[in-house]
Amino acid sequence: MSDVAIREVDIHPTSKSPLADRRSGFRAILNRLRQFRYRYECPFCGVHLKRFLPFGLKFAVLREKQIVGGGYRENARCPSCGCIDRERLLYLYLRNETKLFEQPVRLLHVAPEARVAEVLHKLSHIEYVTADISGANVMTTMDITRIQFADDSFDAIICNHVLEHIIDDARAMSELHRVLKPGGWAILQVPISRLLDRTYEDFSIADTAAREAAFGQGDHVRIYGKDYPARLARAGFAVRIFQWTTRPDRFGGSRNRFGLNRDEFVFVGWKAGRTERTGGPAERDQLA
Ligand SMILES: [Zn+2]
Repeated sequence: MSDVAIREVDIHPTSKSPLADRRSGFRAILNRLRQFRYRYECPFCGVHLKRFLPFGLKFAVLREKQIVGGGYRENARCPSCGCIDRERLLYLYLRNETKLFEQPVRLLHVAPEARVAEVLHKLSHIEYVTADISGANVMTTMDITRIQFADDSFDAIICNHVLEHIIDDARAMSELHRVLKPGGWAILQVPISRLLDRTYEDFSIADTAAREAAFGQGDHVRIYGKDYPARLARAGFAVRIFQWTTRPDRFGGSRNRFGLNRDEFVFVGWKAGRTERTGGPAERDQLA
């Protein structure tokens, strides 16, 4: 499929009745009052909460290997809009650390997170392309190990929680790197173990139940370890790791207003080149 075949679909009809407007106005006032009582706030829908809902799978391996970005979390899902902690971190990172909300860029979003995609669809200055392997609810079907776009096509890529599903992840990483423009950047989140020095993968484990026991999810083929940045580097990326807790003022303060996971880092890969035009984060974060 060529770039030309892509058409943006309007998935956000906004027609509301006057009564619905009045009701939502009343709810907005109530919600504003809740902020004085409640500790947490959803940055997507603005609801104020005592706490978020629990979310995540409970397989023992997720606990034993201390996997961040997977596994069960007590304070994760917004009861109002359904977003989870890692979507909130992604959104706040894009908002606070990149120029995506002000600079025209061409952005590829693989397996898009629903709430983040909804926000990005509305940014008319972005040339926004959503893609995944199923083709459902995205603009184009795409196999990440055989990306149909030309070299140097995108200023930025968001590809989160995809690589752990892909047997040939080295090829997927180098394809992502190939389609980035020089100076382009990619956010590449994966579930990652705080304990494993080396990534654990075993492609002979193919059965769903066996994968759940080994990797914590039935369609995962590995658990990334501390060598994850090195794997990205082998594909050509300069990798930096961002820890939101080093800049709490922009991420909900020390009381963690937006209910983020304090152990979740943002992994950003750059392609060598000039970065001024790609709207990327400053390359000031810790070098992996
Ligand atoms: Zn929400």
